[in-house]
Amino acid sequence: MNDIQLYNEIGKNIKKARRSLGITQEKLAEITNYSLSFIANIESNTYQTFSVSAINNIAKALNTSITNLLPKNPIIDEPLVIKCLKCNYNITLPTELDKLLNNIQEMTNKKIRLTCPICHQKINVDI
Ligand SMILES: [Zn+2]
Repeated sequence: MNDIQLYNEIGKNIKKARRSLGITQEKLAEITNYSLSFIANIESNTYQTFSVSAINNIAKALNTSITNLLPKNPIIDEPLVIKCLKCNYNITLPTELDKLLNNIQEMTNKKIRLTCPICHQKINVDI
C-alpha cells in the first residue's frame, strides 16, 4: 500500500462512517471546524494529506475511534524485487529507494535503468 492508497483508504472509511450517521460533508465540516473542501478532498480520491490529529478530530465528530478509520489491512511495505533476466539474480530495492526512483521517474519522465551487481546487465525498471 503506497501513501496515496493509504490516504484514500482512510478517506473511504471516513465517508462510510459519515454516511452511516446520515450526516452531510457540510455538517462534518461544521462540527470539526474544517473547510468543506478539506473534508470533500479527504473523502475523494485526490491526494489530500492530513494529520493524525485531523483524523482524530473527525473520528470524534463521527462518534467513532481513530482505529476504525484506519485501513483494515495491515500496511506492508514490501521491497521491490527485480529479477535480472540474464543471470536470474533478484535485486531487492528497499521501499525508500523504490519511492525515490518513483519520484525521479516522475520528474524526469525517463526510464530508470539499473545494473545487475552480478552480471552487469542493464535492467529497465518499470515502477
Ligand atoms: Zn544479472
